[in-house]
Parts: sequence; C-alpha cells; structure tokens
Amino acid sequence: MSSPRARRALDEIPVYRPGKAATSEDHKLSSNENPYAPLPGVMERAAVELGRINRYPDAGMTALYGALSARLGLSPDHFAAGTGSVAVLFALLNAHLEAGDEIVYAWRSFEAYPIAADLTGATTVRVPLRPDATHDLDAMAAAVTDRTRVVIVCTPNNPTGPVVSAADLERFLDAVPDDVLVVVDEAYVEFVRDPAAADGLAALASRGNVVVLRTFSKAYGLAGLRVGYAIARPDVARSIRKATPPFAVTDLSQAAAVASLDAQDALDERVEAIVQERVAMVAALRGQGWQVPDTEANFVWLPLGDDVMDFAAAVDPVSVRPFAGEGVRISIGAPEVNALLVERAAAWRALH
Ligand SMILES: *Cc1c(COP(=O)(O)O)cnc(C)c1O
Repeated sequence: MSSPRARRALDEIPVYRPGKAATSEDHKLSSNENPYAPLPGVMERAAVELGRINRYPDAGMTALYGALSARLGLSPDHFAAGTGSVAVLFALLNAHLEAGDEIVYAWRSFEAYPIAADLTGATTVRVPLRPDATHDLDAMAAAVTDRTRVVIVCTPNNPTGPVVSAADLERFLDAVPDDVLVVVDEAYVEFVRDPAAADGLAALASRGNVVVLRTFSKAYGLAGLRVGYAIARPDVARSIRKATPPFAVTDLSQAAAVASLDAQDALDERVEAIVQERVAMVAALRGQGWQVPDTEANFVWLPLGDDVMDFAAAVDPVSVRPFAGEGVRISIGAPEVNALLVERAAAWRALH
C-alpha cells in the first residue's frame, strides 16, 4: 500500500521538541526573551486592534513600513516583514535557493538556519566557529563556490555571543562575489556596545548583495506577537515579499510594533539595563573562573562540553538552554534571577 510522501528534504529535519518547561516563567533564561512587560503604549494600541479582529490585516503593512522607513531613513520598498525574522529568513531562502545550490553559515549558530536551509533542498556547508566562538570569515569566504547563492552571518552570534567586526565583514564582502546574497542576522543589534562591531545597514548602503534581518522579539520584547523584518535593496525585498504568505502579520502585531518604535526612550532605558546586567553577569562568571566568550547580546555562553546536561540540571529552578556536549546559553533576565543563576554557577563549580 502506498501513502502520500512529503519531499525528501524533510527527512533530515527534526520535529520541533520544546525544551524542559521552566519551573516558572520568571526563572526562564532559556529563550533570550525580554524580562520586561511591553513598552508604554503598546498594550493600548494592540487592544484597539483586538477590537477589530474580524478584519483581515493590512497586507501591505503600510504603517509598519512607514515607521521603519522614518526610523532608518530608507524608502518603504527596502523592507519585507513577516511573522518573526525566522519566517522572513524562510521566505528569503525559499526565494533564493533550490536543489543544487549551496548555502554557507557558521556552526554552531542559530538553530533555525538548518531547518530553513534544508527545506529549500539546497546543500548546506557549515564552517566551524573559531576557538573564541567567533565566525571564521576567512574560512567562510573560502567555502564559497560557484554554486553558493547565500551566506548567513549571525552577529552577535546566537548562541555564543561575539560580534563580527566591521573590518572583518568588509573584508569578507570584498571576497564574496556580488551575486551571492549575504544575510546579516542582527536579531540582537540593540544590545551591541562594541564600537568596532559590524553594522549591517552600513554594509547594505554600499552593497547590493547584503540583507539585514532584525526582529521585535528580543530588545522590543514582542516575541509572542511575531514580527521581524528584512532590510534590503528593493529587488531583494520584493522577492522576499513574494515568498511570504499574505496577511501573515496581524494588525495587532503591526500596531504593537509601530507603538514600540514610538517608545524609543523607554526602549533605550530597558536595553541599557539588560546590557548592564550582562556586563555584571560576565564579570561575575569570569570571576568564578569560567571561560566566557565576549558577548554583545542578551545572553552568555558557557562552553561546558560533557558537563552541559549536569550543569543545566544543577541550576534549577533557573532554566537555561543546553546544547549537549557543547555549551549552555544563559539569557539575561531580571536582576534577581541573574543573581540566582550566578549563585548556582558558583555552587556547581565548587563541586567540580
Ligand atoms: C531570536 C532570533 C531571531 C528572531 O526570531 P523571531 O522571533 O522569529 O523574530 C533571528 N535570528 C536569531 C539569531 C535569533 O536568535
């Protein structure tokens, strides 16, 4: 007997399995979420849209593209939004990759990359991070062949934390052919304080083959509403829009995103508080003797190797994100939760 069969590209893609549920949401340092409530004005604007959910959303995302345009100084046709920047990445890779093509990205990096890439049927080339957990851009440039259509650069890199420098990105872009799309994933850009860090928008200003990905999920604290976007030359943005399901981003989400952009001062304050907590956590962990890579994001990475699962269990009730055999990613949460994590980490070290 035969039965319908999905594409073979799906055979290697794992079914999403949620991690261990946090004992309480307050102790959840496993998903790089923002610990703060929505920004001022966001709930009120979203509530207005809640009252008219019998209507389809604005498929043209006029207000959102207008607000992004005003903020970033690029015309609205430079943007392509979707239900989180992960969805935008899926659309982008669908628009630019097919079987026989190649995509290059660093590894370990963001877990959505293999899923989005494999679904297209293209061949993946993973380039290992350097020992200090940074991208090896020379090796990535060397991995580009005449079949390579897309390269992803994640800066700061999830889950390890370091940024790519502006000088390194520039050299990399010089080395990569103009017809290879370079996706600069800036999901954590608001938390970056290193003045030498790469700036995707600056790279985009001088290159047609750069796409920047940004999201409202992290610094803006709208992870549950699913809004992210690409910034690209209009022809690239158009191809992403074509590959995105219509009416994907609800009016509720669009309004919340626009209201968040209007609350810049409150956003800056919160982001700065999270950065201060990050600096304190890195200092505290290094003071305990941990090898912590530099981080410019809202998380820190502990390369624990074989001790990953043991450590993750030992910091209970705090939940962290273990990558078995590699390391543990710890998101920056509320100060008292961060303090509890640091205390648990010290206790674990004392026993090992
Ligand atoms: C969280 C994250 C995203 C964005 O996620 P969405 O919620 O889908 O916008 C994109 N890239 C990286 C590297 C991330 O960590």
